[in-house]
Amino acid sequence: QVIIRAEQVEKYYAQPSENRIQVISPTDLSISEGEIVALLGPSGSGKSTLLRMLTGLSTPSAGQVFWHEKPVANADVNVAIVFQSFALFPWLTVVENVEAPLKARGLEASDRRKRALKMLDTVGLDGFQTAYPKELSGGMRQRVGFARALVVEPEVLFMDEPFSALDVLTAENLRSELLELWQKKTIPTRAIFIVTHNIEEAVLLADRIIVLGRNPGHVRTDFKVALAHPR
Ligand code: ADP
Ligand code: ADP
Repeated sequence: QVIIRAEQVEKYYAQPSENRIQVISPTDLSISEGEIVALLGPSGSGKSTLLRMLTGLSTPSAGQVFWHEKPVANADVNVAIVFQSFALFPWLTVVENVEAPLKARGLEASDRRKRALKMLDTVGLDGFQTAYPKELSGGMRQRVGFARALVVEPEVLFMDEPFSALDVLTAENLRSELLELWQKKTIPTRAIFIVTHNIEEAVLLADRIIVLGRNPGHVRTDFKVALAHPR
């Protein structure tokens, strides 16, 4: 079942001087229930731009994005994004960071706290509720990032280079934990969309890989990855 569908989306950015630059040329893509989709491409190829359009944070210059066949602007989208740089609030504790999106959605304090603590437990941060982000390692901070994204039970979990700021070993651990939680269906989301420039990461995580070419916005094809040992 298709959750998100992009139909011939394009993005141009205005340049101060001459022409507009095209960052995404007409692109079709979809994200369906139960799949992990990776968007792979070198830096500057338009990955973040495409992610922002899929989430409704940015408007395509042409074409449209649909969530359940409704234009994203009119759809009731529950967006959650995990960022490369964690983007935590430094003045809030771990549990307050995780509660923040629930507060924004108007949930009651006791309900927020309960859901935040449960999610912290899921991502392995039990006992770190009252710590501040600066007291945590990069890997732990990104666990908070995951908890904060997942606590809203997003239909699709978006991740923009979530492991790129971490050292190789930490990244590997977090990645395999995420995959394990996903496969055990312990994380409350129906699909995952991950932006990465790391081919290995895309192959290890994704059911399907979409590749952006080096020329900005040139979508190569919608590759199907054949694994030697299908999971
Ligand atoms: P990636 O995520 O693959 O690194 P981006 O989507 O961030 O790529 O950027 C693609 C290109 O578009 C880059 O050349 C970037 O500088 C440019 N770009 C991105 N956002 C904007 C913007 N808001 N205004 C102007 N140019 C932008
Ligand atoms: P909209 O479609 O609503 O105009 P954009 O797609 O322009 O929104 O998104 C603006 C985002 O792009 C902001 O988060 C801004 O920080 C980022 N941005 C602006 N200029 C650049 C750039 N040259 N390269 C990469 N990102 C950029």
